[in-house]
Amino acid sequence: MTCDFLPLAAPGVRTLQPYQPGKPESELRREYGLSHIVKLASNENPLGPSPKALAAVREALPDIARYPDGNGFELKAALSARLGVPMAALTLGNGSNDVLESVARAFLTSEHEAVFSEHAFAVYPIVTQAIGATARVAKANPPDHEMPYGHDLAAIRASISDRTRVTFVANPNNPTGTWLKTAELEGFLASVPESVIVVVDEAYFEYVEAEMDCPSALRWIDRFPNLVVTRTFSKAYGLAGLRVGYAVSHPQVADLLNRVREPFNVNSLALAAAAAALDDFEHLERSRAVNRDGMKCLLEFCRRQNLAWLPSAGNFLCIDVGRPGREVFLELLKRGVIARPVDNYGLPRFLRISIGTEAENARLIDALAGVLKS
Ligand SMILES: *Cc1c(COP(=O)(O)O)cnc(C)c1O
Repeated sequence: MTCDFLPLAAPGVRTLQPYQPGKPESELRREYGLSHIVKLASNENPLGPSPKALAAVREALPDIARYPDGNGFELKAALSARLGVPMAALTLGNGSNDVLESVARAFLTSEHEAVFSEHAFAVYPIVTQAIGATARVAKANPPDHEMPYGHDLAAIRASISDRTRVTFVANPNNPTGTWLKTAELEGFLASVPESVIVVVDEAYFEYVEAEMDCPSALRWIDRFPNLVVTRTFSKAYGLAGLRVGYAVSHPQVADLLNRVREPFNVNSLALAAAAAALDDFEHLERSRAVNRDGMKCLLEFCRRQNLAWLPSAGNFLCIDVGRPGREVFLELLKRGVIARPVDNYGLPRFLRISIGTEAENARLIDALAGVLKS
């Protein structure tokens, strides 16, 4: 090679492991020549987007020659009314990933640290390292805990030092599905110094059931000025392909996040779709019901098969398949089912399966039973 660019890259980027997305359906179709593929790999809404969101996109289409509203006024106004927070508390993102990255850009430098748990969402180490900051990874709960492999808030708190600027907490967490209960999360928020931004990532918030005691941190947004709550339209709202998410924070934090985000980070179709989706209670309720039924069905399958699983408050289930999860993943691919191996998350014997429609779950169950028998 005449030129080696690797040493020229920023230090954090040199050793960065890129995010590994779920395998796209089109890729499996190309590779295996399969049709009738079931993708349960990326926690997408199996019902698709709200019809109201689709109509809003169609209506917005003729205007795509124009730049989008860089301030996202209408979506912010709708969110503000819905959540009971001022518009100045909102930051919109090209997916909530984008907001997480803005937090890193606004608050982390090579002098600083970000703290998060083992088995936490993969974007936290990526945004931390890309900015050249140091990641402190706190030990997760042990396997025999009520929330196995879930966040240990005491361990996270103990990892926070004078150099810590940000801590990322996912509630519920992906890929484990585990969650934090009201008293422990509140105690944690009260224990963290105000100089540390606490990001509570609530990507699966809409799927949480009341009896789980899994709170939204939004209730404490006025009490803790260092709290940033992130949410997304990618999961329960079925808009993953459009990329739109948001953060709620203290207005000064929102101002800082808005300084570092790209000027037109959320496109006009996404803005229109998200505002419309927010208004479609019926679609959201139907999505929650499909998830509840599908989760029940998958749990019954696990019981019948004597498989252990991790408690999940999301739209996915992490199952202990008793052998390398990647092997099972590859066998399922041959049967036209895409699941998600989580060995890259330090969970090599698990497979993460998104809850699908009744028919999709039946396909998965049939295929998985077949693989596990062999
Ligand atoms: C899916 C997911 C997100 C959302 O990502 P988007 O960029 O909004 O699509 C954020 N956090 C967690 C934990 C997730 O699983």
